[in-house]
Amino acid sequence: MAEGEVRKRQIHYPPIPNGIDYLRDVIDRLACESGEPSERDLKYAVLHLQAAAEVLLKARLREEHWSLVISKAEKTNLKKFEKGEFESATNAETVRRLVEVVGLDISADDKKTLLDLATTRNQLQHWGITEEANAVLTRAADVLDFLIRFLDQHLLPHLDTDDEETVADDLEEIRTGLVRIESYVTSRMQRLKESDLKGHEARTVRCPDCQQLALIVDGVANNCLFCPRDWTDPLELASAYDNAFGYSPAPGDVYEDSLVDCPDCDTPTLVLEVETATGDGPVPLCFNCAEVQDDLEECVRCGRLYRPTDEEAICSDCFADLG
Ligand SMILES: [Zn+2]
Ligand SMILES: [Zn+2]
Ligand SMILES: [Zn+2]
Repeated sequence: MAEGEVRKRQIHYPPIPNGIDYLRDVIDRLACESGEPSERDLKYAVLHLQAAAEVLLKARLREEHWSLVISKAEKTNLKKFEKGEFESATNAETVRRLVEVVGLDISADDKKTLLDLATTRNQLQHWGITEEANAVLTRAADVLDFLIRFLDQHLLPHLDTDDEETVADDLEEIRTGLVRIESYVTSRMQRLKESDLKGHEARTVRCPDCQQLALIVDGVANNCLFCPRDWTDPLELASAYDNAFGYSPAPGDVYEDSLVDCPDCDTPTLVLEVETATGDGPVPLCFNCAEVQDDLEECVRCGRLYRPTDEEAICSDCFADLG
């Protein structure tokens, strides 16, 4: 037996069953058949989901080399690692190492899902649950979906038979629980589409909290029917929307930002590419005016958007300026 194998066995502890155990707890809390999860269930579901993500992602780093789990490898040694006396890498750094050091393929969407979860966890630790149950549910489903794919691709194939048996039942529960959460989301969305959202398609956009196409922009209540919650501050909504779904401009694009000043209300609430429930492709929508601003031109002098009244090529400000 090679020396390396002995060493590996000595430091063996089961991070994968440990991570799966956290996931099982998340499912028990969120996919409860009794109905709505309590606030306490939501809280522990988020905390344990984050713990699961951390344990499982780091388990893959560990497989590569134990030192990858540690924030600063130059400040440690194997002895300290075995005793747990080390500072571990941050979430963002863990994901970066998985991609850039180990060479795994993690999509931009998945990365964002994971980092959003870490943010929700931090908010929760400071302020408690600030989000509606349905928003927690849909985001948790995205993370669960990612972690199950991650387990299937990168972790389960390396499990030894003992561990495999330990986790089999839990895995089964987790997979069926996720399907239950997802079908709850789908059937609820279907009902909304056929009832309260009907007729509002052109102003219905994706909610930054629950990510569902269920937020009716009216410039006043801006109510998401899925969460359900109101976004009464259009500035807050526009920037949350832009953070969640705004495009990242390529170098050379005219607009560095997908969130600009609306020429009608002079507020930075005009998002240039908004997907609506019509499915007709993105439109420029002002979250303050609650209007699709699709007849705007770009001023050749100052570069701002304006609404031409005739065929003029510059905005009224520039026009006045030139006197
Ligand atoms: Zn929502
Ligand atoms: Zn406006
Ligand atoms: Zn101008």
